[in-house]
Amino acid sequence: MRLASVALDIQTQSLDRLYTYLVPDDCDISVGCAVLVEFGKRQALGYCMGLSEPFASLSDRQAGLFAVQHQLSLDDPGALKPILSVITAPYFSSDDAQVIQFIAHEYIAPISSCIHLFTPIGRTPKVVKSGDVWQLQTPARRRRPKQDGQDASALPEADGQIAQRALLQESLPLTQGQQDAFDLVCSCMDRPGGDVVVVDGVTGSGKTEVYLRAIRHALSQGRGAIVLVPEIALTPQTVSRFQTRFGQTVAVMHSRMSAAQRFDQWEALSSGRARVVVGARSALFAPVSDLGLIIIDEEHESTYKQESAPRYHAREVAAYMARLKGATLVLGSATPSIESLCRTTYDPTWHRVCLPARANGRSMPQVRIVDMASEFRQGTRSMFSQCLTQELLEVAEAGRKAVLLLNQRGFASFLLCRDCGFVPECPTCSVSLTYHEQGNQLMCHHCGYKVSAYPTCPSCSSPYLRKFGAGTQRVEAELAQLLSKRADVRIIRMDADTTQTKDAHQRLLEEFAQEGAAVLLGTQMIAKGLDFEDVVLVGVINADTQLKLPDFRSSERTFDLIEQVAGRAGRAELPGKVIVQTYAPDADAVRFAARYDRKSFLAAELPRRKALGYPPYGRLVNVLVWGETEEAVRNEAGALSAAIDARLADFAPEGWSSLGAAPCALVRVRKQYRWHILIKAPAHADVSAMIEPVIRKRKARRGVSVACDVDPYSLL
Ligand code: ADP
Ligand code: ZN
Ligand code: ZN
Repeated sequence: MRLASVALDIQTQSLDRLYTYLVPDDCDISVGCAVLVEFGKRQALGYCMGLSEPFASLSDRQAGLFAVQHQLSLDDPGALKPILSVITAPYFSSDDAQVIQFIAHEYIAPISSCIHLFTPIGRTPKVVKSGDVWQLQTPARRRRPKQDGQDASALPEADGQIAQRALLQESLPLTQGQQDAFDLVCSCMDRPGGDVVVVDGVTGSGKTEVYLRAIRHALSQGRGAIVLVPEIALTPQTVSRFQTRFGQTVAVMHSRMSAAQRFDQWEALSSGRARVVVGARSALFAPVSDLGLIIIDEEHESTYKQESAPRYHAREVAAYMARLKGATLVLGSATPSIESLCRTTYDPTWHRVCLPARANGRSMPQVRIVDMASEFRQGTRSMFSQCLTQELLEVAEAGRKAVLLLNQRGFASFLLCRDCGFVPECPTCSVSLTYHEQGNQLMCHHCGYKVSAYPTCPSCSSPYLRKFGAGTQRVEAELAQLLSKRADVRIIRMDADTTQTKDAHQRLLEEFAQEGAAVLLGTQMIAKGLDFEDVVLVGVINADTQLKLPDFRSSERTFDLIEQVAGRAGRAELPGKVIVQTYAPDADAVRFAARYDRKSFLAAELPRRKALGYPPYGRLVNVLVWGETEEAVRNEAGALSAAIDARLADFAPEGWSSLGAAPCALVRVRKQYRWHILIKAPAHADVSAMIEPVIRKRKARRGVSVACDVDPYSLL
């Protein structure tokens, strides 16, 4: 006789724990299987999360021991019920079961939501109620999908050609930086201890080549690899770089694939036909056996943080997985996150290697800063400075290409003085105040500080203290006017609106790539991965939007964005120019990014973070409360805040604080009112252990939802 710990596939807070069942002797079960169990008066679906050793006969003591080991609550072992049946082959291994428990604990998330990270979408059994009876539904047996042109694994060229190109590439001598990085990664892989290598390489330094050779090394050791790239960078070009090298052994997963296509890839990995997966964030949970290597490209990207339950960060989960499975984690970026950089300075298992130069020996493009407040004073009323206008016309004249970035993150609005660039800030939190039209007020959404909007600029008395922000469409119209004498210049707009349809992203890029003059105008999504040889000009229309978002990372994000977008210019023969328009020419993020001077940027930024207890010097938890009635949401946030304060007062050591209940910067989204409580904790605190009990103890209330965001990335 054995015991199984089972997580029920029911999304109810009170049932969110593991339950113990008896395993009948003839039952063929493993960790990761979906099982049918009796629960109360109904049957329920669950997933096996752990199994005990077999017992000849089960004593209370043995059952108790198992219960303790698996943190189960076992009221009466005599009353244990048996597993009714095992429904599927395992979806995950017992190591993965540990990863699931880690995520559930670390991110205060429902365990069933963590399990479903590992199951293929739309391909799991369910127990559903039809009329009065609960019925088991298993996924239908599937026809093999027809191989249409859309198949993600379709290769763009004939196999022979590909093999030839691959050989050619692999015989290229590595640069010194590439060699150092490759050697370091290999030495970690040869003594598998879950080490982490931060590959800190400027744009165009050839990080991808390092990844490819590391994957080759993993495969030669008989081990598999996971490669994560930001969703938006998961273009056919990126994918084909991996497929060209490794052919059919590469599976691809991203959100634009159908459930059936994804399941195909899932099965290819699960059966061992494919050993490497390239995908977005969720590909971290693909069934790669004997995992030897995890690569996270552009590791600073906020897309690696999931914004719905479980609100995990792929980098942190990957580091845990690497340790558990003896794999090596590679974090690559031209602008590594401050958290990762900092970790390499004190954690002996985190290493850093630099690739300071472009692989083709070209120099980095020059960056020029334009002060828009001074342009305004000189009479410019356009969004394009005189200098950017001039350069755009020259690009058009020469038949070349330009990329224009409209920095547009979030929706929070703030006031900006068009004369001097002043932005009102919270006196205690050092973040910009959000403008609320209702009541004409400025508010700090960290701490709730409120003040009526100033009629004139407190710094220079200018009356031009105005709401800030312009949409891509308006910029496009103005650009079209500016280039109106040049009908041969294509303007391609790439933003959330124009990239809604499948493959739109790809189509727009192809249009841009065609011969002749073109301007690609877009939001953040154009900052990464673009590799066009004839881009000679990159313009950032407004470096400030991001800088002034009420978020402690806004400075870091602005720095990253300027570096990344500058990296799009002058990648080949033609030298590139970068023009950054800003109302804050003296901001550290702007002026140091323009000189590619991260050291000075960090020297300015780190003391600020330290003084305010922000990461990497502290941890944050953002408790979110939302619902349709404002009063209910406010009351719930108030009650939770009081419960948190009480727990912190009794149990928290030095360094913990709660900023109290406050309305979110985005107070109302899709008819939901939103409040939050921001909690600060010391750098290495177990935040879950402190906060989870309060959340669990809370009585579920109709119409109000609560979620914890541990190490939040969006504070809006
Ligand atoms: P990153 O990912 O660091 O921005 P990429 O991997 O895209 O850089 O490489 C930039 C360019 O340099 C690519 O066109 C690539 O083919 C080329 N490249 C990479 N390694 C080498 C090398 N060792 N010698 C010459 N060119 C290289
Ligand atoms: Zn404040
Ligand atoms: Zn002013």
